[in-house]
Amino acid sequence: MARVPPLNRRSNPGKDTAGPDDPLSRLQPRWGRSVLKADSAATVKRRPDLERALVDNSKNPGLASDAMRQRMLGRLTEQGISDASVLDAIAKVPRHVFVDDALASRAYEDTALPIGFQQTLSQPYIVARSLSLALRLGSSLAGGLALEIGTGCGYQAAVMSHLFPTTVSVERIEGLHTLARRNLADLARPNLHLVLADGLEWAALNGPFDWIILAAGLTDIPQGLLRQLRYGGVLVAPVGWPEQRLVAVRRGDTEPQASEFEREDFDLVQFVPIVKGVQR
Ligand code: SAH
Repeated sequence: MARVPPLNRRSNPGKDTAGPDDPLSRLQPRWGRSVLKADSAATVKRRPDLERALVDNSKNPGLASDAMRQRMLGRLTEQGISDASVLDAIAKVPRHVFVDDALASRAYEDTALPIGFQQTLSQPYIVARSLSLALRLGSSLAGGLALEIGTGCGYQAAVMSHLFPTTVSVERIEGLHTLARRNLADLARPNLHLVLADGLEWAALNGPFDWIILAAGLTDIPQGLLRQLRYGGVLVAPVGWPEQRLVAVRRGDTEPQASEFEREDFDLVQFVPIVKGVQR
């Protein structure tokens, strides 16, 4: 794959700490925010005693999963995720629906989980981190079309559908595409569209997008994929081998900066690799 020469590279492996003094915090998209009050993350109440009681109550799995989800949100906040719209979106998606029954009790742990076909569902922190970066770096020029490459079981796509006006998620393995359809059937997300295709090929024909989020790793970011970003758009992807980092690339807002792409490297991560072609 081609290298990406015009990137201005900055390294920022730290936590998601955009505060009012951070110039990036001013680059917020004008939609998809403020569903919760800005300080809502800090007000997630932790009641371990109550949570344990609910978790043990097998007659009430709905309440138990609500409590476990609250606990997961508390952990994400402690890990430095501060974007209220991301925390709110995660709060709305029942993660246990997306994993095998045998793993449902582990659905709210901060861990990657197997979803079959040798693929994994990313740990909640990585989902939250990827989406926080996408929102933090996105420009007010960006509109509302988000692309995920790598639907897997559909969990991150469901979270994205609560953040972006329209999300398209592309998966290359037919069995996973079908599984995601099944997992999402009861969640009623009319603004989420699932596609069975090679994500890189599909993106080249169907852009531009305001946001491109890759859920599978690349050794380098293909120029062709960056060209599918709208002006002011952001791509977030796991990049590099053997050391892989979550990388965000932002396209300039207007000409001539629109042909410039600014890259920042963040957390060390371990994603499954992007694979070419459709597997039926
Ligand atoms: N976001 C997913 C986890 C994805 S795991 C979730 O929430 O469950 C990475 C996924 O990327 C796998 O399902 C894998 O099949 C898919 N993938 C890898 N290469 C791809 C490609 N070229 N196009 C589309 N999907 C791809």
